[in-house]
Amino acid sequence: MDDRSIGSTEETLDPESWEELRQLGHRMVDDMFSYFEDLRKRPVWQPMPEDVRARFQEPIPLTPQGAEEAYTDFTKLILPYVTGNAHPRFWGWVCGNGTGLSMLAEMLAAAINSSVDGFDDAGTYVEAQVIAWCKTMLGYRPEASGILLSGCSMANFVGLAVARNNLRDADVKQRGLAGTSPLIVYGSTEAHSSIQKAVQLLGLGTHALSRIPVDDAHRIDVRALASAIEHDRAAGRIPLAIIGTAGTVNTGAIDDLPALADLAARQRIWFHLDGAFGACAALSPALRPKLAGLERADSIAFDLHKWMYFPYEAGCVLVRSDAEHRAAFRYEAAYMAPSTRGLSAARSQPFTEYGPQLSRGFRALKIWMGIKEHGIDKFRRLIEQNVAQARYLAELVTASPELELLAPVSLNVVCLRYRFPGDDDQRNTLNRELLHRLQESGAAVPSHTVLNGRFALRVSITNHRSRREDFDFLVHEVEKLGRELVREPGRQPTGTR
Ligand SMILES: *Cc1c(COP(=O)(O)O)cnc(C)c1O
Repeated sequence: MDDRSIGSTEETLDPESWEELRQLGHRMVDDMFSYFEDLRKRPVWQPMPEDVRARFQEPIPLTPQGAEEAYTDFTKLILPYVTGNAHPRFWGWVCGNGTGLSMLAEMLAAAINSSVDGFDDAGTYVEAQVIAWCKTMLGYRPEASGILLSGCSMANFVGLAVARNNLRDADVKQRGLAGTSPLIVYGSTEAHSSIQKAVQLLGLGTHALSRIPVDDAHRIDVRALASAIEHDRAAGRIPLAIIGTAGTVNTGAIDDLPALADLAARQRIWFHLDGAFGACAALSPALRPKLAGLERADSIAFDLHKWMYFPYEAGCVLVRSDAEHRAAFRYEAAYMAPSTRGLSAARSQPFTEYGPQLSRGFRALKIWMGIKEHGIDKFRRLIEQNVAQARYLAELVTASPELELLAPVSLNVVCLRYRFPGDDDQRNTLNRELLHRLQESGAAVPSHTVLNGRFALRVSITNHRSRREDFDFLVHEVEKLGRELVREPGRQPTGTR
């Protein structure tokens, strides 16, 4: 075969008739609104049966199945078996719910299909405005620059990349790391795993992440941090950045941000804040004091798909100065050089010079439309509602003789366990089993973590659909499963039989 015969008949991916697709589209929208309406009646999650799982091994289709069939597959094979974070009783990891309008906004963004590179494209102006709104929401410096990214992992990476590429002591952007003294990033033992990935991707290696111990409230020990810095400097290493966490993933703890900002300023070290979900509490004047010092961070990473409830993916990094942010990612390429007029006129922010991506989705649209739809005050109230719900759950746990709290509740994360008889090992095994049964029942989905060797059911509330009765129900279900397990033959710990 040669290539002379290819393309002799012309075709397109558009349908022969838009009418059929229009009807299918209307049905899809109807179905999804019914899905939203009925969420509460559905199991939060259910495991995928083997026969359905097998369907995902089918080879690539060569011939058309058709739009209708493809959609039927979605409703049968996918929709019933998703994580379930749209549900009012989903509290695993840190997941937002999404909203009806933002679903539609995602459709609009896909329809126009802009790559938001920073050209004279409406998407550029929308993203720039969303970044400006993010600064207002967090009470961060108006002169800061920013960019939307896939999530907080990328935002942490970009924040640290800006710190590294602007380092005074070494020109890492041009010369790489060879020949520089080792660079060290400081974070607590509770700092997020994405920080670890970031130091690895930045070529520093895992050992460059200095893990500082935490206090009883799971906050970084600032004195231990100060002495680690002294020690590293004395050994000829270069402190690159201090990571503060506002809302640790395990317990929602907030580091002492003013103390970290002071130390970073004194030592002239970049202060990066990982505020994946916790930073959003800055919207509330009542909660903002917990985040005092946030405005002093040199860069802030946070998510809009967690505690702002927007659909995946949407993370954001803010950097104290536009010049430093752009310097870290600026590049030369004739085909991307801005012109004085036309589509590639540099009228706004050339986003491709502010992060690793060239082609970039129109993430900003769902945020822009969602904030217009509700007004930012509504988001403040929902965040406050989730914090009040966490306190309510903590009170239920404290009041129950069968349950115990495993960490102080500082924001929206509640870690608890059932008080099974036996030692910690036996309790861990039983609480793990309890959590599996709870998830498999479809009643509710908390996730898990381990705190000081103790297995915890972790309830992380970034859910605009939860109501207080959902937490009553959760406590009821955990107590019921706990009693069931206590009574099960062979489950009693040895020694108490
Ligand atoms: C979720 C989370 C991250 C990572 O964010 P992604 O959006 O999942 O990439 C980083 N830090 C903390 C504290 C988190 O909770």
